[in-house]
Amino acid sequence: MSETIFTKIIDKSIPADILFEDDDVLAFRDINPQAPLHFLVIPKKPIATINDITPDDYALVGKLSGVAAQVAAEYDVAEQGFRTVMNCNEYGGQTVYHIHLHVLAGKPLGWPPYQETLKSQ
Ligand code: 5GP
Repeated sequence: MSETIFTKIIDKSIPADILFEDDDVLAFRDINPQAPLHFLVIPKKPIATINDITPDDYALVGKLSGVAAQVAAEYDVAEQGFRTVMNCNEYGGQTVYHIHLHVLAGKPLGWPPYQETLKSQ
């Protein structure tokens, strides 16, 4: 897999506002937040897309949700609620090819997210 901007965040060659880190996982604020609190939870292992997850990765990928909830609790948004999203490839809107769980919180979020797109087709 080719290196992405997230590899550079993992190895600290570019800065990020890191909210959680352990041996497997990193969570940091999104540089272009779409909600009052918007952070990304990524595995340190580079996996390009959801399509590239193998059974060996299932525990690691599950951990992303656990860390999302843990950080949400630390920032006092867990009880109000939040959204997690993992975009995949072009139609999913993926722009960085290192899987990442978006966590959006701090205001009520609309649903479904694709309603306007469908109406305009
Ligand atoms: P995607 O579109 O792939 O689902 O999400 C990629 C996310 O990464 C975007 O929300 C974008 O704002 C964020 N992002 C891209 N480059 C950087 C960066 O250098 N630093 C941080 N913190 N976030 C980034």
